[in-house]
Amino acid sequence: MENIIKKINEIAGKIRRDIFLMEVCGTHTQAVAKYGLKELMPKNINLTTGPGCPVCVTSQEDIDAIVNLALADIPVATYGDMMRVPGYYGSLDQAREKGAKVFAVYSIEEALNIQKKYSDLVFFGLGFETTTPMTAYAIKKGLTVYSIHKSFLPAMQALLKIGELKIDGYICPGHIATIIGSKPFKSMKVPQVIAGFEAEDILLAIFMLLKQILNNQAVVENEYLRSVREQGNQKAMQEIFDVFDLGDGNWRGFGIIPKSGFKIKKLYQKFDAKIKYKKILDQIDFSFSQKPTNCICHEIIRGLKTPKQCPLFKKICAPENPIGPCMVSIEGACNVFARYVK
Ligand code: SF4
Repeated sequence: MENIIKKINEIAGKIRRDIFLMEVCGTHTQAVAKYGLKELMPKNINLTTGPGCPVCVTSQEDIDAIVNLALADIPVATYGDMMRVPGYYGSLDQAREKGAKVFAVYSIEEALNIQKKYSDLVFFGLGFETTTPMTAYAIKKGLTVYSIHKSFLPAMQALLKIGELKIDGYICPGHIATIIGSKPFKSMKVPQVIAGFEAEDILLAIFMLLKQILNNQAVVENEYLRSVREQGNQKAMQEIFDVFDLGDGNWRGFGIIPKSGFKIKKLYQKFDAKIKYKKILDQIDFSFSQKPTNCICHEIIRGLKTPKQCPLFKKICAPENPIGPCMVSIEGACNVFARYVK
């Protein structure tokens, strides 16, 4: 590790300007904080955090929708972290305290098992291309899903397009690249390195990015060769597109990003909770979902601010009492900062 840090210092010295590298994966966010990688960087190399946590980027409207379905006596299952994300109408955990049938699951198989008892169960399906194939499989088996699954690349593209933040290079998400392959990243004309999740992986990716920047290159390189292929996992991608089409995705911090949301195809629409429970959903007052709060998750997700700049950080908002989604998920920037950053 010392050797690679020495090389990063050497190359940073040659670049002689401030460089901003963004990681866009919750697991990278954790690794950077856990191993103190920011502190190991030369002065002109800045590591920023982007929208890599699927719980964090879930829109307030979607939280409010699923909580209202639960309160309307429809059984709901979802992955553990999502239970605690507060919306205007409370969280799924709070709905359960009020008597709603809400189940935290660790796998899609668990949701399928619960459905055997509660045939009208709705699975609140979230995540990027990594978890979407499992949900597609469950829909084929007859599970009703409220899909907030998202395709990740459009968010990286949106950040570049918005241009409110300087991004000299992306440390690209290894898990997602394992599924979609390295090829789709070529659509972005910015230095990129797909990285694994050990400290050495991330440091090597930083070195590779700096080398590109020094040589005025903007290509996609793959540091995570042990897992990522150019074509990705075609079987998993096939499973996704058997069941889903790409449509508008509603992201916290961004709003609607076209072609970023996995929508259930017409062929499977009888398992689409947004259609099945349209009457209930149409009655929800979403005007409250946009009410401004002191939580700055929306800016943290876009890399504009750090958790320490939030006035609530570790005062009112903490992992045991989360005010926003970035403090709920163990991959959320606020949660990670609260645990690892002094
Ligand atoms: Fe939101 Fe809490 Fe993070 Fe502040 S510290 S941005 S309130 S999650």
